[in-house]
Amino acid sequence: MNKSVKQRLFGSPNIQVPVIGQGTWAMEGGDRAKTIAAIRRGLDLGMTHIDTAEMYGGGEVEQIVGEAIDGRRGEVFLVSKVMPQNASRQGTVRACERSLRRLRAEVLDCYLLHWPSNHPLVDTIAAFETLVRDGKIKTWGISNFDEEEVEEAVRLAGPGRVACNQVLYHLGERRIEHYVLPACEQHGIALVGYSPFGQGRFRSHPVLDEIARGRGATPRQVALAFLTRHPITFAIPKASQISHVEENAGAGTLQLTEAEIGRIDAAFPAGRPRRRSLPML
Ligand code: NAP
Repeated sequence: MNKSVKQRLFGSPNIQVPVIGQGTWAMEGGDRAKTIAAIRRGLDLGMTHIDTAEMYGGGEVEQIVGEAIDGRRGEVFLVSKVMPQNASRQGTVRACERSLRRLRAEVLDCYLLHWPSNHPLVDTIAAFETLVRDGKIKTWGISNFDEEEVEEAVRLAGPGRVACNQVLYHLGERRIEHYVLPACEQHGIALVGYSPFGQGRFRSHPVLDEIARGRGATPRQVALAFLTRHPITFAIPKASQISHVEENAGAGTLQLTEAEIGRIDAAFPAGRPRRRSLPML
C-alpha cells in the first residue's frame, strides 16, 4: 500500500503521527458501509490518526470506528475524548472503559478531555495517569484549552505529560496562532487542528486556486498543507466519501514554499492578537 502522508513527532520524542488524520464527528448520519470503507481507505493511504469521542452519535461513532479498524488496530493512532461532565476522577476511568469496549480496543493511543470541565482538572489528570499506569491509554491530552488553561494543565501535570491540545483551526479561523500555538510549542505539546474545512464551509480563493494549479494539487490540499506547515501542527479533516479521503491524503506530501505561505497568510489574515480568545465550534 502507498503510505504517503508524512509524519511528525506528537508531543513526545517516541511517537510519530501523520500530519493529516481522520475526524469522525457526525459519521453516524451516513451510509455505515461507505463510511467504514472511507476510513479504511484513509488507513491505506497513511491517515492512521483517527479522532473520535464518546460524545459523537452518543457512542455510535466509536462503534463505527471499532468496526472500521477491526483487524487493523496496530496501524492506528487511536484518539477518543471524555465529555467534561464525565471527567471526574472515577468518571473518567469509567468513560474510558466504555469507549474501549465500543472501539473493540484494549488501549487508546491518546485520550483527551473534550473541553474544560467543572470537575477539578487535577482530578481528570489523576484519572488519566491512572489509565496510563493501568495500560488503558498510552498518552493523554486536552482540547479547546486556551493558553492559560494549557499553562495550568502543564503546571498540574508536570513537564512532558500533556501530549496534545486539539483546537479549532482553519483558514478563516487562525486565532490560535497568536497565543495557544506558542504555549503548546513551548511545552512540546502537539497542536491538532479540528474542523480544517470549517465544518464543510470551505470556499476556495484565487490565491489557493493559483497555488493549487501551479503544484498540481487542489485548493483543499493547499489549505491542509498550510494548516500543517508548522512543526507541531496536525489536521484531522472528516470525510465519509472515499474521493474526499483520497484528496485529503494527497495533502500529506505537499510542502509549500515560504512565498506560497506568505500569499495564503495575506489572503486569510490571522486577525488581531487577543489573549484568551479561544474560538470553539
Ligand atoms: P471538517 O473536517 O472541517 O469538514 C467536514 C466536512 O467537509 C464534511 O462535510 C466532509 O464531507 C467535507 N469534506 C472533507 N473532505 C473533503 C474534500 N476533500 N472535498 C469536499 N468535501 C470534503 O469538519 P469537522 O468534522 O467539524 O472537523 C473534523 C474533525 O475534528 C471532526 O470530525 C472531529 O473528529 C474533530 N472535532 C473536534 C472538536 C473538538 O471539540 N475537539 C470539534 C469539532 C470537530 P463528507 O463527510 O461527505 O466526505
